[in-house]
Amino acid sequence: MKFNSYLAETASPSPWRGQTSAPLLRDSFARTFNYLRLSITERCNFRCEYCLPHGYQATAEQAPELSRQEIQRLVRGFATLGLTKVRLTGGEPSLRKDLCAIIADIAAIPTVKVIALSTNGYRLSRDMQDWANAGLSAVNVSIDSLDPVRFAKMTGSDSLTQILKGVQQTVDAGLLQVKINAVLHANTDTSEILRFIEFVKRQPVTVRFIELMETGNSQQYFESNRQSSTRLVQYLLQNGWTQMVRANNAGPAIEFQHRDSVGRIGVIAPYASGFCDTCNRLRVSAQGRLHTCLFASNSHSLRELLQYDAQQAALQQRLDDLIARKTAGHELHEGNTGINNGFSRIGG
Ligand code: SAM
Ligand code: SF4
Repeated sequence: MKFNSYLAETASPSPWRGQTSAPLLRDSFARTFNYLRLSITERCNFRCEYCLPHGYQATAEQAPELSRQEIQRLVRGFATLGLTKVRLTGGEPSLRKDLCAIIADIAAIPTVKVIALSTNGYRLSRDMQDWANAGLSAVNVSIDSLDPVRFAKMTGSDSLTQILKGVQQTVDAGLLQVKINAVLHANTDTSEILRFIEFVKRQPVTVRFIELMETGNSQQYFESNRQSSTRLVQYLLQNGWTQMVRANNAGPAIEFQHRDSVGRIGVIAPYASGFCDTCNRLRVSAQGRLHTCLFASNSHSLRELLQYDAQQAALQQRLDDLIARKTAGHELHEGNTGINNGFSRIGG
């Protein structure tokens, strides 16, 4: 269980907490990368309308998912280059039967201090205790609406009550840090915002609104449903919420607190200027392809270097070379979504 080390780490300006030996992955803009978002499956049991509107469909030419052993070699390779945090994502990572074993393998790597999971929460109630026992530190649960009818329409799943039960049990158990992610889109009206504000009054969680991003397969949806976070931020500031000071190693969210609320509201605005300047994350797809950005114009296979333990040095060299070539930022403002054809393919 690494929740305590997570708290210690976020409070400290140094991601190394006294350890200085690991070399850092660095790009040509002097950004260093200690955070890997690893997709472990493209499969999903939901049909979120902005992500997988027709549900997951397997294709014959699809390469198999990285095996547990390949994942272990991959994370070990990153860890020797300064990785301290891994997020398992997808698709829906909880659909993998060996998820607990994957978590435990990563937890056994001493320099990895935080293991987080992004999930739609469908299996949270059933599995959160096992995930925590395996070594998970934090869980991000996607809940786009607190209205059951709207939730079902957006996700294709009538499971809001079950997911909220899982959130409550996870908070009560105190084993995992819990955050909720809600995509900010045209339907996120004032009544929806007020439901979330009411929710965090009682729940010690952060609800983070993430601006809808365009992908290669969702241009039309994006044009009809995009919503900037500016109005939300104005609303918060006019209603007693204050912006919190950002820690040096904070993620991309700007967080707000309120004296009547035990939880927080966060805003992630990828279209804001300077968003990419402090990027510290890299992505690997479920087939073992490195994406140096969520909207990169190409990806690079690492899989052939995950077949034997003896390939670790070659893997590290390849990571060093590829990351040195990371571009300054995404080009979403120009409508350039790179090869991102939906987050479920890369791992959002
Ligand atoms: N299935 C898990 C879940 O839903 O949390 C993990 C994978 S999902 C792709 C990761 C996150 O990406 C979710 O919070 C989802 O809402 C977000 N996401 C997917 N497509 C998006 C888009 N076009 N714009 C913004 N966020 C998106
Ligand atoms: Fe599945 Fe997550 Fe995409 Fe929804 S956002 S369809 S839960 S991968």
